[in-house]
Amino acid sequence: MAQLDTTEKLTILADAAKYDASCSSSGGKKRDSRGGKGMGSTTGGGICHAYAPDGRCISLLKILLTNSCIFDCHYCINRKSSNVRRARFTAKEVVDLTLDFYSRNYIEGLFLSSGIIHTPNYTMEQIVEVARSLREDHDFRGYIHLKTIPDADPELVAQAGRHADRVSINVELPTASGLRKLAPEKSETRIEGAMGTMRTAIEDGADARRRYRSAPRFAPAGQSTQMIIGADAATDRDIVARAATLYSRFALRRVYYSAFSPIPHASAVLPLKRPPLMREHRLYQSDWMVRFYSYTPDEVGAAVDPETGMLPLDIDPKLAWALRFREHFPVDVNRAPREALLRVPGLGPKAVRAILTARRWRRLRMEDIARLTVSVKKLRLFIITDDWKPVMLADRADLRTLAAPKAVQFELFAA
Ligand code: SF4
Repeated sequence: MAQLDTTEKLTILADAAKYDASCSSSGGKKRDSRGGKGMGSTTGGGICHAYAPDGRCISLLKILLTNSCIFDCHYCINRKSSNVRRARFTAKEVVDLTLDFYSRNYIEGLFLSSGIIHTPNYTMEQIVEVARSLREDHDFRGYIHLKTIPDADPELVAQAGRHADRVSINVELPTASGLRKLAPEKSETRIEGAMGTMRTAIEDGADARRRYRSAPRFAPAGQSTQMIIGADAATDRDIVARAATLYSRFALRRVYYSAFSPIPHASAVLPLKRPPLMREHRLYQSDWMVRFYSYTPDEVGAAVDPETGMLPLDIDPKLAWALRFREHFPVDVNRAPREALLRVPGLGPKAVRAILTARRWRRLRMEDIARLTVSVKKLRLFIITDDWKPVMLADRADLRTLAAPKAVQFELFAA
């Protein structure tokens, strides 16, 4: 590997990390340096986790320790056979960079991942050393998210959890067959085994903290994972089902969906085109339907096109579900329970809360709903108010046209 200075390494290794979408710090426990102890904080005014257009989370220092790798996953730009420029940080270089960037107020924390060098254990030791040094040598109290390596020794992975706020283990692909085809050196059994061990460790850690205030923290922001979308034949129905299983089996905080990006000198087993970015967006919306809108994964699965198994790209999955199951509408905003109101296209949890509060005092009219929501244009097709009732909803052939947003230029080019 050629001798590179820190700036050159940073250019290469920050760019290589942009394919990783798992960099939200939501759910992190509060830890700060008020009182003159240590430096950094996980929460507080001015902290936000924005995504740059190229996918990087710009409030964290988001880098790889190295983009060299002994594995050869077909979809990965850093795979062994890829002809990219390689670079590698030492653990101390990452520690120094993090502290330097933090002191300059560039970042609120660190997101660290890595290609696998020498062995999974050796790589994991280096990742853990960065977090250990930041926490123990420098009393760093900012946010740390570590990508862990499922093949590494469980004790090393546990050490990562002791220093990091969040840990993640990528399932990589939605199906076992996709993983076998595109990442043959990885194993679904080993990945899920590591996620199961991590779940137990996180729950034990939380339990110990409940009983003893002095018990050490263990990954207080939980674990997450990432799936690559569009590199294999998995349908949206497969992906929704897989995500639901992962949430329930491993108590994940987040499943991230990352649209596959064609890479230079790509393997012949990969598709030539990236999937529409809108597909990734629709999957995030379907994820929210299960996590915040009380839909079961099967119900979300019912919103897909029965023939293709894919969610529509031109309308959101909640609207797609409403159009398919019209018998559930219109919903009377003056009488319906919270669960039914949450299913109305255009109503989110905040608007539903406001409706439930307001209707305690008076019967709601369309003008009241207009004040409580961003727009009533779409949702008026699906609700009854004191002065409004849509007619023949279930029979209207043009309901989709009426409810769908007008196509905009960027969606034409999204594919
Ligand atoms: S192990 Fe990770 S870094 Fe290495 S080729 Fe596979 S996906 Fe890329």
